[in-house]
Amino acid sequence: MGKKERFFYEITSLNPEVTGSCHLVTVHYPDARITNFAVDFGSYQEELYNELNAEKLPFECDKIQFVLITHNHADHMGRLPYLIKGGYKGKIFCTQETAQLMPFALKDSYKIEHENAQRDSRKPLYDETDLEETISRITPCKFGEVEYLDRNIKATFYMNGHLYGASMILLQISFPGEEDINLLFTGDYKPENQLFEVTDMPSWVYKLPMVVVTESTYGYMDTTEVIYHMEDDIEKAIKEGKTILISVFAQGRAQEVLYLLKSMQYFRRLSTKIPIWLDGRLAQEYTRLYRSSEMLLKFNKADFIPENFGYVNQENREAVLQSKEQQIILCTSGMLDHGPAKIYLESFVERRDVLIYIPGYTSPKTLGYRLQNPVNGFVTINGKKLVMRAQVETTKECSSHAKADEIIEFLKRFKHLILVLINHGQKEVKEKFAERVQKEVINAKRVEILGEHTFRISPYGYIKQMGSKIIFLKSNKKEEEDKKKTKIHKKEKNDKHNKKLPKFTKRVCYSYN
Ligand SMILES: [Zn+2]
Ligand SMILES: [Zn+2]
Repeated sequence: MGKKERFFYEITSLNPEVTGSCHLVTVHYPDARITNFAVDFGSYQEELYNELNAEKLPFECDKIQFVLITHNHADHMGRLPYLIKGGYKGKIFCTQETAQLMPFALKDSYKIEHENAQRDSRKPLYDETDLEETISRITPCKFGEVEYLDRNIKATFYMNGHLYGASMILLQISFPGEEDINLLFTGDYKPENQLFEVTDMPSWVYKLPMVVVTESTYGYMDTTEVIYHMEDDIEKAIKEGKTILISVFAQGRAQEVLYLLKSMQYFRRLSTKIPIWLDGRLAQEYTRLYRSSEMLLKFNKADFIPENFGYVNQENREAVLQSKEQQIILCTSGMLDHGPAKIYLESFVERRDVLIYIPGYTSPKTLGYRLQNPVNGFVTINGKKLVMRAQVETTKECSSHAKADEIIEFLKRFKHLILVLINHGQKEVKEKFAERVQKEVINAKRVEILGEHTFRISPYGYIKQMGSKIIFLKSNKKEEEDKKKTKIHKKEKNDKHNKKLPKFTKRVCYSYN
């Protein structure tokens, strides 16, 4: 093997489309050492891939040395307890802000998982001890400060407008006498945010020979195609005497929509007499946290709560549901599949005086998606076939993802883009977006799509596609030899009890050696 190939890494992604974000990286050093790490460890939210959440992890969890989390969304961190249960021994690195928020999301995922397990009469994927262990491994990092993960790998978290606490992660991997490997994970990316200022990465980062792993959720459209009509829609519906139900993600969207309503009140486009409610325990917890956030207070945007606002819980939900008064209700979940959303929808979809507003992405097959595409005028909720009478509107203006032109603008800032890896998008979107990046980002030497293949990449950008999806994390050879020695020793003692277990599940049992 030539010098250029002695130091390289392999990268693969577990997510086939948008949710279930997880990148696995294996670094091979010239001295035969190997380091495995993961960036994000999310759960699948598309119904199509739901069963993958319960599937045995296609690698040995104890071979992963560390995990980095870009932000606090379930599709980027929801499966962490499952990884811990599987034997992962390392730390979970994320920003200080994400570290503060993540325990809430993990506890919520735990609750949902246990409810689902009970409903499906199966064993939950992990228990409370795994949850507590996961929380105890969270290791907060400061934005912009270098974190040494081991003697060869350093990570830096940079601000990202996608969400409060969200980051892009720069990994710099070095070995004496070799070129550095620089790898940037955008996570879910947005250049700015309504609630806080986003500080840019320092200019030297843009000068590094770089491989960028980017998302592409909205890779099919440009910012110029976004039409801002949510305020008009709300104003119109209120004039028509309608009650408005707005689906929100617990963190980010809920607070941003409250901010929008507050600004409508300020400009007298919305009467302060209309009560505004927020339902969803997690959304309420995040809202309280945001209100006391140092980062948000620093930028003087923490006051996002409109007038005549209240929280809905079990005690007052029935009264809100039965109220004849016109009102605006924000409820979780964002795709309307979980949380209190279904309770409202069961009685609201058949009401002509209701506007259901979905201000964000909904995966195919989720209830949010089905409401936008009713079959012959019907929609099924909790097994009940209901006539779709309510008005359903959606907008892309609140999206917390960059559009194609914004990502391209971002990529163009890199002086020496060795490779762009496109991920986190629907299959066709990834393909189209990849073509566009190839055409428009002149500095990008090469563009590839992640999701179906593993790529072997050298610091110089030499890239090789490793056939189909390979998720075979190797461990340090020396360590392995030591293990073998102790194993042989044990084997002699206890041969009868040794059962040969299959190493990998069938679906992903591929090897390339
Ligand atoms: Zn996200
Ligand atoms: Zn995401």
